[in-house]
Amino acid sequence: MCLHDSTHDSRLRDWLPSSNNILKLHPYCSKCGSVKNVSSDKGKKAGYFVNVLGMLKKDLEKRGYKISKIQIRLIMHEFEKRGLNDTYSVSFSLQVKEFMNIVRKFVPVSEEKLKAYLY
Ligand SMILES: [Zn+2]
Repeated sequence: MCLHDSTHDSRLRDWLPSSNNILKLHPYCSKCGSVKNVSSDKGKKAGYFVNVLGMLKKDLEKRGYKISKIQIRLIMHEFEKRGLNDTYSVSFSLQVKEFMNIVRKFVPVSEEKLKAYLY
């Protein structure tokens, strides 16, 4: 796994479309080629999403639905597998979108409900 140490940021930059589709110069990791997210929409560490799952677990328990540790582990495993814990390159909005998609594969919860925990 590449840690994208910023000392490996390329001097060269690539012209790439930013989130609003305007071409911008992006630095990228010269070790693995991951493009750095330079927008203000910064990704959050995996712990943030673990906390969200904790809150969701508590609320659902009050309603008689129990989220198991295994469910949480599966969700976070898939989160990692999709590369979403890579805050170097991933934006928060992408994390949220994918996270909601993953959670809803394992837990019966609406997007609206989940969103309320995330923002
Ligand atoms: Zn890298």
